[in-house]
Amino acid sequence: MGVYPDNDDTMWLTDTANVGRGKNGDVSRVVVHVTAGGMKNTNQAGSAYATWSSAEVRAKMGVKYLSAHFVVELDGRVIQFVDTNDAAYGTGWLTTGSVHIEFAGDHPHPLTGDQLHYGARLIAWIAREHPSVALAPTGTSAADPGDPTLPGITCHKFIQVVWRAKPENKSKPFTPKSCPGDGIIGQLGDLARQARLYGRPPRVLEQAVGR
Ligand SMILES: [Zn+2]
Repeated sequence: MGVYPDNDDTMWLTDTANVGRGKNGDVSRVVVHVTAGGMKNTNQAGSAYATWSSAEVRAKMGVKYLSAHFVVELDGRVIQFVDTNDAAYGTGWLTTGSVHIEFAGDHPHPLTGDQLHYGARLIAWIAREHPSVALAPTGTSAADPGDPTLPGITCHKFIQVVWRAKPENKSKPFTPKSCPGDGIIGQLGDLARQARLYGRPPRVLEQAVGR
């Protein structure tokens, strides 16, 4: 069971348009997204759930499948929608083998301090639950998206940029997304660093504090 023990709520998605039961394979990466729900709405998990579970809304957006495993609200609350062993549909390419996290907010704003803290704790848990995940960003910017197939932390934009650069995809229909935006992209290194800290065995942290 890939259920985050410290979640603040769960809003389980059940439709096969949102959940690929047991289909996430060997999870080796975390994909960071932004909800684009703004910097004030305190219930972006509720908005996301309403969007994802409506076939009508998905049709309007031109997508058949849409979901993420988690939303991290502006105040750091973590809401889970999909078991991490199940596939969520946060991207087309590389949607499986990934845990998709939607951070409440909007580009180009950075994460709030609470989101950075609680998001990093969540990512540390993901790496313990799925040992193939590496706690380091695989890209640094849209101009340097790295290789998102490698284990690590990436984002929606990097996956799109690398997918689009493949010769066979150059003429395919494509809507470029500002997800998660430059503010959050600039924090991927911080997220990874803090997740590495939280990922240490508790005793090591206690000793460090004790000194
Ligand atoms: Zn996204």
